[in-house]
Amino acid sequence: MVPGMKSGVLLFVWAGAAALALLSGCTTVPETGRRQLMLIDASQEAQMGLSAFADLKTQQPICQDPVATERVRRIGLRIAPAVGRDLPNADWEFVVFESAQVNAFALPGGKVGVYTGLLNFADSDDELAAVMGHEIAHVSARHGAERASQSLGVAVLGAGVAVATEDSKYRDAINVAFGLAATGTVLKYSRDHESEADRIGLLYMARAGYDPAAAVRFWRKMAAREKSGVRMPEWLSTHPADETRIARLERWLPEMVPIYEAHR
Ligand SMILES: [Zn+2]
Repeated sequence: MVPGMKSGVLLFVWAGAAALALLSGCTTVPETGRRQLMLIDASQEAQMGLSAFADLKTQQPICQDPVATERVRRIGLRIAPAVGRDLPNADWEFVVFESAQVNAFALPGGKVGVYTGLLNFADSDDELAAVMGHEIAHVSARHGAERASQSLGVAVLGAGVAVATEDSKYRDAINVAFGLAATGTVLKYSRDHESEADRIGLLYMARAGYDPAAAVRFWRKMAAREKSGVRMPEWLSTHPADETRIARLERWLPEMVPIYEAHR
């Protein structure tokens, strides 16, 4: 605190600074151009993803099968350049985790995890690319950071403090928003975030030379599995394979096919 400064004045200064941070705290989502509230610094966000991924690698068994590992790495290394400047802080890493779950995730900083259960469920590299592209799109569109910003926004104005991810109180809120609080826990994204990740994911896979029609095939398969009453894969509980999603993907296919044709 500045010596001799009256607390009332200080509060005013803080509140002003916080309001300014909120007003100017906007970014634009790559590919869709949507404006989003953003109070979290991109490099700090990447750092959080890095450390969370490092923790995961010590807590969950990593698949040692070279064929599976090579398959995911090969797909990932084709998607990475398709993402390009959308994720400037990426230090790409693709890891296969040993688990029967039909699941995959991506974290800020370009850290991608795929479960062996998904590898067995995806019939082709194109289908796997659809899931990986979707998960990476959540990261490049900064959906976790946006969700954290939304929940922090009110607190920032109310308390008149700047968002600092070092601050434990805010760090907890941010971790929850990213779904990092409990290892392996994936929070449900909003419908808007899902839709945006679907669209950007299609773009990434098409640019990487993977057939975007495989995304529709994959989601149809997931929907059939859902109806058949097989125990729900954890990923499906956060990514419902409903008709809305499938219809939306089909509607976007005509503009994705030429991109795919140009990159295959
Ligand atoms: Zn999603």
